[in-house]
Amino acid sequence: MPVPTDHSPPEWDAIILGAGPAGAALARRLRPRHRVLLLDRPQARASGAQRIGESLPGAAHMLLRRLGIHDSFLAQGHAARGAMVSQWDSEAPTWFDPIRDPHGAGWHLDRMRFDASLRAAAIEAGAILVDSARHLTASFDAGRWQVDFECDGPLCRTHRAPVLVDATGRSMAAARQLGLARCGKDRLICLYAHLPVDECDEDHSTRICADSNGWWYSVRVPAGQRVLAFHLDGDDSELKALRDPARLLAKARRHQLLAAIQPAVMDFPVHAQPAGGGGLDPGALARLPEGFFAIGDAMLSFDPIASQGLFNALATAESAGRAIERYIDGANDARESYLTEMRAVAARYGQRLDETYAAVSRYSHQLFWQRRAPHSRRTGLLNH
Ligand SMILES: Cc1cc2nc3c(=O)[nH]c(=O)nc-3n(C[C@H](O)[C@H](O)[C@H](O)COP(=O)(O)OP(=O)(O)OC[C@H]3O[C@@H](n4cnc5c(N)ncnc54)[C@H](O)[C@@H]3O)c2cc1C
Repeated sequence: MPVPTDHSPPEWDAIILGAGPAGAALARRLRPRHRVLLLDRPQARASGAQRIGESLPGAAHMLLRRLGIHDSFLAQGHAARGAMVSQWDSEAPTWFDPIRDPHGAGWHLDRMRFDASLRAAAIEAGAILVDSARHLTASFDAGRWQVDFECDGPLCRTHRAPVLVDATGRSMAAARQLGLARCGKDRLICLYAHLPVDECDEDHSTRICADSNGWWYSVRVPAGQRVLAFHLDGDDSELKALRDPARLLAKARRHQLLAAIQPAVMDFPVHAQPAGGGGLDPGALARLPEGFFAIGDAMLSFDPIASQGLFNALATAESAGRAIERYIDGANDARESYLTEMRAVAARYGQRLDETYAAVSRYSHQLFWQRRAPHSRRTGLLNH
């Protein structure tokens, strides 16, 4: 790590805010050639609590190989993705076997282990991680990005670098501090629970159902539980009542595909998490001083129906890593080429998302689905 010779702040090649999958992957990608400081806030998660977001497509094989962590990833005990069965526009179940995916079936992750292993891989590559950073502020001064924070160890106060990366997920903490706003105000909420499973539950398929005011998914995860998740609007009058485990389960079990879900006990907590897609406007980002990048959910967060957030975290780490290396080597167009790529990803994603929601015609008269019709999305009906 850089040691200051006088009272000037330590200098790095890149400071990355956020040590989630995107930030950790980028930190590993930039080492050993560059000096990297990786910052995260103290984690409030209670021990044993699970994170939602566990499906990783087979296309991630290539990205894990490029990070040099493919073999260790395969040894971590993630489960191969089973078939997907959905009742989307009709009560007739439609099956898809991911074995037909040319990239391979993909995985259902032990999410906590996956996130922790990426952080460990960043540290192993030589990035310095401070995971107790509080009161972070970012500013640009005399051609350098400056980050100030408090923390538990000796590394506090001020650090400087030509490159600053926002990898703080949906909170896009650095970008917001610098005056950027989130585009796309879809107030989708995910209500979810990790159910203690019954011994007889040997089903490994992913089950997806449309409902009149939202959509469901359920899958078993390698950590042993079954995820049950319902996505609905933040202003839905049923939202509060569905925080009750019995009510959530009863509503789910009205669907044929979810009727057999039977948790071993009923006192599981139901969590609520914002889940709407959105992200930064690449044009606004391009107007910030040079050397500022955003990756993962901070750049573009996906509606969970896309199941692409983790792949996007790894892919943007790869693309931004390439752009940052070119920028440090003096290329003037490095950030703009990265942003051009992000515009293309956002356009493809938007089109696929419109098609996915528009496919549910059986509930097209219901507010949840009307708000997600392509016309409403364009005219801002989601800004409710
Ligand atoms: C309901 C739901 C279901 C999902 N399901 C899937 C799925 O099946 N498959 C899939 O691929 N994706 C899924 N996702 C998305 C996936 O979880 C995210 O895309 C992924 O976590 C993005 O990684 P990231 O590193 O960009 O952000 P994050 O994982 O959010 O990491 C951000 C990091 O930044 C840190 N941070 C935040 N603010 C600050 C701050 N002020 N200072 C310092 N550090 C900060 C956080 O502590 C965190 O460690 C789902 C998301 C939701 C909401």
